Amino acid sequence: MLDLRPNCEYCDKDLPPEAADARICSYECTFCAACVEHVLLNVCPNCGGGFVPRPIRPKTERRPGVSLGRHPASTQRASLKYDRAELAEFARSVRDVKPEDR
Ligand SMILES: [Zn+2]
Ligand SMILES: [Zn+2]
Repeated sequence: MLDLRPNCEYCDKDLPPEAADARICSYECTFCAACVEHVLLNVCPNCGGGFVPRPIRPKTERRPGVSLGRHPASTQRASLKYDRAELAEFARSVRDVKPEDR
């Protein structure tokens, strides 16, 4: 199940579960759309993979036992493990390889 992490690892913007601009990689590294587009260049700094929009977990329990209320979002904020200069170099070195070929 997705963690639904509460913030962008790069700029620390709040990304509540309903945020339409939350992006995740296959490991659920979580960033805002602006950072993915303008800073990360669709390269996850932690794993080198690409990003997709994070699905929004429904608030309303339309089927028994499944809803945001039943499975709340994580409250554990994450922050970047790499310095910004190193990250920029990493993104530049990977950006031109399509995610499917990384
Ligand atoms: Zn951000
Ligand atoms: Zn990642």
